[in-house]
Amino acid sequence: MTDDLSASLQAAAEVLRAATDVTLLAHVNPDADALGSALALGLALRRLGKTVRVSFGAPEEVPETLRDLDAAGLLVPATEVPRSPEVLVALDTGSVGRLGPLADRLGTAGQVVVLDHHVSNPGFGTVNVVDVEAEATALVVLRLLDVLGVELDEPVARCVYAGLVTDTRSFRHARPATHEVAARLLAAGVDGEAVARPLMDSHPFGYLGMLAKVLARASLDVAAVGGRGFVHAVVTLEDAAGMRPEEVESVVDLVRTTAEAEVAAVLKELRPSYWSVSLRAVSAVDVREVAQLLGGGGHRLAAGFTAEGDAAVVLEKLRGALEAVGSKALG
Ligand code: AMP
Ligand code: MN
Ligand code: MN
Repeated sequence: MTDDLSASLQAAAEVLRAATDVTLLAHVNPDADALGSALALGLALRRLGKTVRVSFGAPEEVPETLRDLDAAGLLVPATEVPRSPEVLVALDTGSVGRLGPLADRLGTAGQVVVLDHHVSNPGFGTVNVVDVEAEATALVVLRLLDVLGVELDEPVARCVYAGLVTDTRSFRHARPATHEVAARLLAAGVDGEAVARPLMDSHPFGYLGMLAKVLARASLDVAAVGGRGFVHAVVTLEDAAGMRPEEVESVVDLVRTTAEAEVAAVLKELRPSYWSVSLRAVSAVDVREVAQLLGGGGHRLAAGFTAEGDAAVVLEKLRGALEAVGSKALG
């Protein structure tokens, strides 16, 4: 860990120790890293006697598979986030826009602590702990808990594990030290399979029918990205009817298995003609750069952006950005 990171961790711990009321925010459409990180820190701060709430800008519903992490009932709807929070903590949120409708609280909060692992994070807090080496924000939170001297009990460890197991794709992308963190979490009582299965391997039967439709329309362009291959699929509102966000989000995990493609994309229709796009790369193309050209962000091998319009138009824009970045990767 760099000196800068140690210093910013100490600064974050000082702000939190001095606080009486802390509001923790995950990014919009929160995943297990965002909410797991927020809930882990929230549980710890509650134990230190703080008033704590956890929220996120959108959607209104908490993803079903993440509700179990909220052992102490810390989650509140976005409408219950104070106008001027004493201390605001933004977790796993690579840019201001990812706070969605709650981004305005950055201007009214007394202090803003940013805990993140996105290389593109501009450091929009008064204290910024951005560890780009960390495979998950949950690791940054665990470091902070250690600085705060909070005991790592099972409910806290479970939240950290949830973020870690998902962002590392079941520890495939994990340094040796990160495996050691996993061992520590298991030793704290986490049941790894019980946490991971609902998050990654469990869907209602209707999922199979949705997949059959969506995957049948998937399309492969082997010549794209300088011959490295591009595969994509589209999940319309009609396809997603009756499905949870969890089912829609997991489509990219199947599409990305296409051996002929370096880059995979899934267009997910959130409301009519408004798309959230998931990008994945195997190893050679930096899809964060692609996403950033289109107003989004993310990591080198997993990124995303949102776009308006017909799916065909969004795809054309995506192909343009892919060629711009792909030719650089090859050149
Ligand atoms: P997803 O495909 O939704 O699982 O997202 C993959 C990664 O891309 C996330 O970890 C985020 O860092 C990032 N990301 C996704 N959507 C956006 C967006 N609209 N703007 C910025 N970053 C995004
Ligand atoms: Mn995330
Ligand atoms: Mn993350």
